[in-house]
Amino acid sequence: MTTAPGCMDDYDTNSLSVAEALRRIDSDVQPLTDTEAVPLCNCLGRILGEDIISPVNVPAHHNSAMDGYAIRGSDIPLSGARELQVVGTAWAGKAFPKPTHPGECVRIMTGAVVPEGTDTVIMQEHAVRHDDVIQINSNNKPGQHVRQAGEDLAIGQIVMQAGKRLLPAELGVLASLGIAKIKLVRCLRVAFFTTGDELCSLDEPLGAGNIYDSNRYTITGMLTRLGVEIIDLGIIKDEREAIRTAFIQAADTADAIITSGGVSVGEADFVKETLEHLGQVNFWKIAMKPGRPLAFGKINNSLFFGLPGNPVSVMATFYQFVQPALRRLMGQAPSPNLLVKVPCISRLKKAPGRMEFQRGILEANTNGELVVRSTGEQGSGILSSMSQANCFIVLPVTCGNVEPGGLVEVQLFEGLV
Ligand code: AMP
Ligand code: MG
Repeated sequence: MTTAPGCMDDYDTNSLSVAEALRRIDSDVQPLTDTEAVPLCNCLGRILGEDIISPVNVPAHHNSAMDGYAIRGSDIPLSGARELQVVGTAWAGKAFPKPTHPGECVRIMTGAVVPEGTDTVIMQEHAVRHDDVIQINSNNKPGQHVRQAGEDLAIGQIVMQAGKRLLPAELGVLASLGIAKIKLVRCLRVAFFTTGDELCSLDEPLGAGNIYDSNRYTITGMLTRLGVEIIDLGIIKDEREAIRTAFIQAADTADAIITSGGVSVGEADFVKETLEHLGQVNFWKIAMKPGRPLAFGKINNSLFFGLPGNPVSVMATFYQFVQPALRRLMGQAPSPNLLVKVPCISRLKKAPGRMEFQRGILEANTNGELVVRSTGEQGSGILSSMSQANCFIVLPVTCGNVEPGGLVEVQLFEGLV
């Protein structure tokens, strides 16, 4: 193992690897099983609590995919042209009521039920009509332009499995089955507070040495996008008793508790110590940058994540650990962590020893090929880097500096929360 001078600090034998931390979190999470029935219109972003079996065929009937004429496939001539008699019209929502016979056809609109006796639709552009007679030619195929009953979803089929996150497509599919109320995993309750004597709310004037509590807003934003119920316990001072009281209150009401700040080794960092008294600390140091101090454990039945105070560390640790843990806790089926390998056009500074999540901008170069570039300064207090970036550049523990043109893996922000 080669270590750049001055980088020994990056190898900390007490730090867990990211993969091991994820494994430990995973084995500590017991997915919720309580369900509630929710009207379909309120289901966006929520997790399905049961398998959905199709009660019907979608579409329910054979219907036309085109405006044109419904005919019998056997009436298509082998060569030349053939004339068919138009005997009526089939509208979407108003079927043609009578059976048709050889040599007959029915004017049909898109979505209309294919009349009895017909099985093929001729596009209106491909039929020549004179009064009630159309002429068709041999360039048509029997069965064309007909959507078969059940071709989207067949009756009795498993349409979606429990654990699926409901996005707009799922809402539409459920509506197409006529299901108005959905059994969902109950909403996850997540309590959080920020810690730090230096923190001010946005309605307070900043005194000397104060900063605004930006973590409250990034955490609220990320939790909102995860679709959980948020219990905001405010800013808590760096005082043992205040932190203890906040924890007890949080553990009483929430499935998971998130804090920011107070987990490093400073003299006013009481979060980890309080967690040790009230619950169990599973680990509190991870070999990653940003975000080395991250306390994970349990208080009673609530999961606990003590995020670092630095604003970029908060977001990086939330994306990497809190987000997958909360998804699992709320019953969501695991989804693959998509990493994309692309050339990096910037020079990246990195010492071996920790896995790094540098902020990058993934874009297409002038040849239309994906490349990533760095947002620049990578300090854990540079929150604007998270706003400029659209991805993490994920650099493995052993990796050192990356020269321009080197291949790196990126993880897109979009879809993470
Ligand atoms: P700590 O982990 O408490 O030592 O905090 C590390 C750094 O993050 C310090 O510079 C804090 O001022 C800063 N910080 C802590 N909490 C917040 C917060 N809620 N919003 C913005 N910055 C914070
Ligand atoms: Mg602090």
